[in-house]
Amino acid sequence: MTAPTVNAYSSAMERKVVFPAGILQPPYFDMQGDDAANYGAIGAVIGHEIGHQFDDGGSKYDSTGALKNWWTEDDRKKFETRTGCVVDQFNTLDLGDGLHHNGKQVLGEALGDLGGVATAYRAWKRSLAGKPEPTVLDGFTAEQRFFIAFARVWGTQYRPEAMRLQLNTNNHPISKYRANATLQNIPEFQRAFHCKEGDPMTRPAQQQCKLW
Ligand SMILES: [Zn+2]
Repeated sequence: MTAPTVNAYSSAMERKVVFPAGILQPPYFDMQGDDAANYGAIGAVIGHEIGHQFDDGGSKYDSTGALKNWWTEDDRKKFETRTGCVVDQFNTLDLGDGLHHNGKQVLGEALGDLGGVATAYRAWKRSLAGKPEPTVLDGFTAEQRFFIAFARVWGTQYRPEAMRLQLNTNNHPISKYRANATLQNIPEFQRAFHCKEGDPMTRPAQQQCKLW
């Protein structure tokens, strides 16, 4: 990637995560901006890329970048139960017009999103230790600003043909679901926006997927 590229990537073989300068600007990151929004946006992107090192693909590489199993059988089994939850979630999401994701095809990216936002949230909370509670800004609590910043990253319009093409050929879920399907699994999001059981943004408790 070139310096002005607005993107990021992770390489399991080189054991590295890369963030070109282009992505280190609003709406991802603002030096003068609100911490909650920075953690929700670029923080979740950084968590996403680190997450790829431990997703269905990256977890099969060892610390030197060699394709070599270093997991116990028990851990791998539990990992597959947890990731199976995400496969089911994406397989069953109804996108209208008879369209669906292929859960296995988008699994690595969906895991990056789920692990990324959960890790960024914990990192943000840890950064607040010993500091005064963040105040309400523009009518939103800091928790709400964290999740709004996360979702804003995925504001996208598709033509129907582009959506079909992505569903059939791309390992990234449709942008809207990178925000919504991910947050349906996050109890901290539901608390921040007072979502109740049965609301569209709350998956039933026994179906909520959690990776890390
Ligand atoms: Zn990714």
